[in-house]
Amino acid sequence: MKNKYFAVRRSGVHGKGAFALKDIRKGTRLVEYVGENITPAESDRRYDDTKVKDHHTFLFSVDSRKVIDATYGGNESRFINHSCDPNCDAVIETRRVYIEANRTIRKGEELAYDYNYERTPKTTKADEKLYKCLCGSPNCRGTIVSAKVTLPRKKSKARAKKKSAAKSKKRASKNASTKRRGRK
Ligand SMILES: [Zn+2]
Repeated sequence: MKNKYFAVRRSGVHGKGAFALKDIRKGTRLVEYVGENITPAESDRRYDDTKVKDHHTFLFSVDSRKVIDATYGGNESRFINHSCDPNCDAVIETRRVYIEANRTIRKGEELAYDYNYERTPKTTKADEKLYKCLCGSPNCRGTIVSAKVTLPRKKSKARAKKKSAAKSKKRASKNASTKRRGRK
C-alpha cells in the first residue's frame, strides 16, 4: 500500500525523507499520521529523553490525553522531516492527524512540516540545542522547539477543541519531550 503522493528515500536534511512523486496542489491531504495511540504517561515511560533521542521523531502529541507512537503501526508519514519554512501542515481533526500541502509542491521537492516541539516556561537554551534544526531555510529558528509557549491543554478545553475540530483546523504539536525534560 504505497502512498501515491510521495516516496521515502535518503534525505540531505536528516536520515530518510519524503519526496513528492508529482506536482501537488495546495490543500491536498497527503497522508494520515498513524501509529499506536497511547497516553502521555505511557510515552514518558517508553522514551526517556536523556537516553534515546531519535525515537522522539516518531511521537506525535495530539492533545493532553493522546500521543501517537508511530514506532508501532506507523506508516510512511513518520519519515516526513521538520522544516521551519514547511510546505505541509499537520492538521488535527477529531483527534486524528493529517499531513496536508500548505502550498503548491513541485515533483521532487522534499515534504516537511513544522514539528513545533512543545515549549513551556521551563524550556531552556540547552533544550533548544538538543533539538537543533538543520533545515537550512532562510528563516530557520535554529531549533525544532516551538517559537511560542505551548502549554498542555486542560481537560475541558480539550473537549471543546474536539467538538470544534472539524470546523477550525488546528496546527499540531509534534511531541511533548521538552515538557518532560523540564520537569526533571
Ligand atoms: Zn529550521
